[in-house]
Order: sequence, then C-alpha cells, then structure tokens
Amino acid sequence: MKYISYNLKNFREIPFFERICSELKFNIEVVGNILPFKVNNYIINKLINWDNTETDPVFLMTFPQKEMLNPEHFQIMSTLLKKNSDSADIRREANKIRMQLNPHPASQIQKNVPELNGKKLWGLQHKYRETVLFFPSRGQTCHAYCSFCFRWPQFVGIRKLRLVMQEVKQLIEYLKTKPDVTDILITGGDPLIMRTVFLKHIIDELLKAKLPNLINIRIGTKALSWWPYRFIDSHDAGDLLRLFRKVNRSGKRLALMTHFNHPKELSTQEVKIAVDRILDTGTIIRSQAPILKNINDSPEIWQKLWTKQVEMGIVPYYMFIARNTGAQRYFALPLVKAWDIYKKAYKNVSGLSRTVRGPIMSTDPGKIQILGPVNIGKEKVLCLQFIQARNPDWVDKLFFAEYNETAIWRNELIPAFGEKNFFYERDSR
Ligand SMILES: *Cc1c(COP(=O)(O)O)cnc(C)c1O
Ligand code: SF4
Repeated sequence: MKYISYNLKNFREIPFFERICSELKFNIEVVGNILPFKVNNYIINKLINWDNTETDPVFLMTFPQKEMLNPEHFQIMSTLLKKNSDSADIRREANKIRMQLNPHPASQIQKNVPELNGKKLWGLQHKYRETVLFFPSRGQTCHAYCSFCFRWPQFVGIRKLRLVMQEVKQLIEYLKTKPDVTDILITGGDPLIMRTVFLKHIIDELLKAKLPNLINIRIGTKALSWWPYRFIDSHDAGDLLRLFRKVNRSGKRLALMTHFNHPKELSTQEVKIAVDRILDTGTIIRSQAPILKNINDSPEIWQKLWTKQVEMGIVPYYMFIARNTGAQRYFALPLVKAWDIYKKAYKNVSGLSRTVRGPIMSTDPGKIQILGPVNIGKEKVLCLQFIQARNPDWVDKLFFAEYNETAIWRNELIPAFGEKNFFYERDSR
C-alpha cells in the first residue's frame, strides 16, 4: 500500500473533506497551527466514518478540534489567520501559546538522563531500576501526532526538547554497568518509522553484546494501529518479522508495546493479519492507551477493547490518564470518573483481560494508580499507589488524598488526614 501522509499543509486535499463544512476546516487550521497533526490514507479510508465526523472517535482524535485550545488562544490564532498574517508572525504567536501548554511535563528530559564516566547520555532515560528507555535518533517522528502525548512538542520542531541518540554503543556500555536492568524499551516517536536495516543494527548489537541480565527487548509503536502495512507489505516487512523471530530465538523476548485507543482500530482485516504475523514470530504484543473524553470514556468501549485484544492474542497492559500537556483540556476526565469507568469495565471481563492496570498517572515520581474512593473512619478519601516509582521502595505502598470529584491530575490532589506532604515528597532520594 502506498503511504500518503496529510498534515496542516495538505489536509484540504483529502478527498472526503469535500463533505466537511468550511468552518470546521478553518478550526482545524487554527488549532493545527499550534498542535501538530498527521494522518494517513489507511486512517482516512478504513477507520473514519465520514458520514458522522462530529462523533467519530478516530476523526476526533486525529484532527485538531476547536475545544483543544482555550477560547483566548483560539481567538488569537484565528484573528492572525483571518488577517492573512505572514508566517513568521504566526509561528511566533504559535510558539508563545505552545509554551503555555506545558510542552514538557514531568521534566522527563533533564531528570532521567543517565551518565557514564561523567558524560550525559542524551538518548537514554533511566527512571525505573529495571527498564532503560532508548531513543534512536532515526525513530523520533511518529505515525500519529497525538495532541494528548507529551511528545507533541518534538513534532513541531521545538528542538531543544527533542531527545536524540546517535549511538547504540553508548547504550550497551551503560547497560554493562547496570546489572539490574532487565528491559530495554526502544521508543520515540515511533521506532517502526525507521527502516528495518536501522532497527536491525540496534538489535543485532544488543544481541551480540550478550548482556546476561537483559531479558526483554520492547519496542513502543503506534504502527500496528495506524499503519499495519508496516508488518504486511512494506518493502521491508519480511525483514522486520525475521528480525523479531531472531530476537525470540536468541533467548531474549521481544515485546511490542502497542497503542489502541478504540476498538475500531482493531476492526480491520489488515490489523488482524499483522497481529497474526507478529505473534507467529514468538513476539508478545501488549497494549496501552489513555482514557480520553470524547473518544473512549465509557465502560462498554474499554470492555470491548480489552476483550477484542485478548481474542486477537494481544495482552492488555495499561490504561493511562491524559497528561497535563497539549490538548489536556479537551481529553481530560476527572480522576474518579476515569476510575469508575475502569472499574465497571474490569468487572465485566474475564481474567485473561485483567492483566490491565489503571487508571494510571505517569508523573515525575512514578506511575500512580488510582485505586478509588474509600471510607477510613469518618473520612472519604482517594486511595492511590505507585506501580512504578523512581524509588523502588515506594511501589505498592498505599497512600491517600482528600476526596476530590473534579481533579484531573496529581497537582490538584491534597494529602488526606491533614498531612502536609505525600510520603514520597518527604522521602527525597
Ligand atoms: C512506563 C515506563 C516504563 C516502563 O515501565 P513498566 O511498568 O516496566 O512497563 C519505563 N520508563 C518510563 C519513563 C515509563 O514511564
Ligand atoms: S508516541 Fe504514541 S501517543 Fe505519542 S504521538 Fe506518537 S503515537 Fe501518539
């Protein structure tokens, strides 16, 4: 299948856009000048219902929506565009607005970059003891530019914020000094944007290094849901599948960490064939997704998503809370609402789907799971726990916040029982 990509510059050429009213197109342009978007012919032809774009979940998460910006920011950009301002002015104003959309939540870049011999390794992140993240420089773009993702700034060229890695060698040198690391997660962007030869180079070097403690090589990708042809008929799909098989035969396990927001993304013949081919190589496929208002905010959708995944051989893994960045105002749900949806869906699926954990906020100290409201004594509080933490001792310890119906992120939570801090804020490592 020929890959045709659309973005702000050419989206009006998408054939179905003849059906879209000019106001909607203008809104896409206004918001799209601030939050990037990208879509391809597979999404357009197979996943979007063009008769019903106002409610179609794939349309809504693909194309910028007016409500993703606050009215003031929308107004500023729309005025500039109506006046036909020159592109330098538009860019300057767009960058100003972007800086107010928390382009780098949880200070990932500065805080988790490891050092080797006194030198910062900029293409690596090491936050949780067992897992190192590797950002190959050729995999830093993406199949989709999701406006709820903390990576959106790197797609609009705020270059300072871009994570880059030149050297798999450095990665291996580092891993040799860290025997606790069992998992390496190759991520981006999307590493499967890379041609197979480049990925093969990275993986071959990792296998050759014979790191005795390394067990899992994970690849984080959106390709399975957004461009399944990557595994079917792209010129190097066969090489990719052979590479997957090679890892699994070497005694390490390859895990594909995929991203499905809605059961629709599991519905095509293409994705089914791709999943079967990947599983045939001995690779395990896991799936994670954020819970998003307007897209997947009902228990029925999650129940269907997890059930369908298990039926196809995919293991449900994480349900995330939309981060405090980008278009959070459009996608965010109150934490207790997300928990309620999670619980209702979880209750109605078989044990094979209950490998999923959520809802989870991925924050600076770690991944915080919302366990829901509980009554302790006379007080109703919100029960939380870390399922991953920068300090491994924090994991699985329950802690409590004041009950709050409207909070959408951790910064709005207050420690319960009159405490000044949460326990991990006292315990600074
Ligand atoms: C989620 C995450 C990982 C992987 O954690 P697992 O629970 O082992 O899947 C690694 N690094 C960062 C920064 C993460 O957010
Ligand atoms: S990394 Fe995943 S969530 Fe982020 S933009 Fe790419 S596909 Fe979307």
